[in-house]
Amino acid sequence: MGKSLPVLNFTNWTEKLGFGKKASPADSSALQDPSLLADGRTVDDFKPYLIALNLTKRCNLKCDHCYLDATTKAGGGSDELSTEECFRLIDQIAEVNKGCLLVITGGEPLVRPDILDIARHAVQLDFMVVFGTNGMLINDRIARELVDIGVMGMGISIDSLDPQKHDAFRGIPGAWKAAVEGIEACKRNGLQFQVHFSAQPMNYQELPAVIDWAHDLGARVLNVFFMVCTGRGEELTDITPEQYEHVLSYLIDSQDKYADMLIRARCAPHFKRLAYEKDPNSPITKAQGYMGGGCLAGTNYARVTPNGDLTPCPYMPLSAGNIRENSFVDLWERSEVFDSFRYPHLKGKCGDCEYSEICGGCRARPYVDHGDWMDEDEWCLYTPKGGEKVKVAFNAQENTTVIWDQEAETRLNRIPYFLRAMVKKGVERHADEQGIPVITIELMEELRKKRFGNEKPVFKF
Ligand code: SF4
Ligand code: SF4
Repeated sequence: MGKSLPVLNFTNWTEKLGFGKKASPADSSALQDPSLLADGRTVDDFKPYLIALNLTKRCNLKCDHCYLDATTKAGGGSDELSTEECFRLIDQIAEVNKGCLLVITGGEPLVRPDILDIARHAVQLDFMVVFGTNGMLINDRIARELVDIGVMGMGISIDSLDPQKHDAFRGIPGAWKAAVEGIEACKRNGLQFQVHFSAQPMNYQELPAVIDWAHDLGARVLNVFFMVCTGRGEELTDITPEQYEHVLSYLIDSQDKYADMLIRARCAPHFKRLAYEKDPNSPITKAQGYMGGGCLAGTNYARVTPNGDLTPCPYMPLSAGNIRENSFVDLWERSEVFDSFRYPHLKGKCGDCEYSEICGGCRARPYVDHGDWMDEDEWCLYTPKGGEKVKVAFNAQENTTVIWDQEAETRLNRIPYFLRAMVKKGVERHADEQGIPVITIELMEELRKKRFGNEKPVFKF
């Protein structure tokens, strides 16, 4: 079994990694004043879009790649956040951004007895809640309850279309069958689901078939995860950088074929560089945040461990502090760990790269390899050409005179936070081009149909 990485005390490392005293934008006070941010970003750019709540180490499986060292699978460990502590954490996240997506995961979250109470608490505060699960415990009763609570969807992991391969990887016979039955239970009960696939040497060649399968099954999203070898995964081998390029390129091409299923690479940020190389104006290139497939660690994404440590992403046990001792608000807004991601001093080829602002490389891979999370991402094959930085339009204001009527504005505000700016810009641009002075709900509906046909959008709103 692989070893777990120790949680790192950041303050011992700032000097070693050359952060020292940062420019004024890194001061938390500067975050309050958007005019101080030279690249046009505002405090809104550092709102959480996505928080992964790893609320338990309990698990009913023994997956090789699990980043949690799940030795306390049965009980979860004595230091697991209590129900009340989870409620308080969610209340504090709401103070920063209720519009963020909460991913309740583990371990296997459905093994934790109070997990539905925690989900209910989050939904009652208007959070969008999804689960990351192995799917084995979802039956009609659980699916119905999740729908009643208002959970938006389930991300269910499938590692192979060959049940034996999936079971071998998951360590339990029957895991594949139970996961697929879980998906069927979601479908029968109107609970949206996403397929999560971790690309590994043993399965990456199955991707074309997995994409077809997920689409035929009715998945709204296919997330293809790229492994960062931590926890048990430390002893696994990753696919090679050449295979990465090949798979990422295939995913980008596949998105064109499936307008009603979002296909994204997760934790391979050079997906953005490849998408840009293929088409600087493609929807993937323009999409920001969670929809874009880049890395959000520490800028718009964080993870809470089962005992309350707040880290920039699940693959980095680099704690900004513990929510038992500090409020989430303080840690999110004032942590030097998070500042190091928001104002990064990238090194090596990532520092020199013209794509650093839309890609930036994975920070967890150099961290796991040698502790320096600002170093280059060695899983990217690209050699920077030293040109001008490729820019993204960070919340760029476009001059528009169109206005939103009240109904349309209400609908806009129900759109998940990480999508809202993109939808707003798209609708306003269309209205401007067509000389439409007022955006109505009918116009939004018309544009939605143009984009998705009669299919539902990827996210309900
Ligand atoms: S640092 Fe790497 S593993 Fe973490 S979220 Fe970013 S891409 Fe994924
Ligand atoms: S060199 Fe770094 S920043 Fe450039 S594309 Fe590769 S991973 Fe991204």
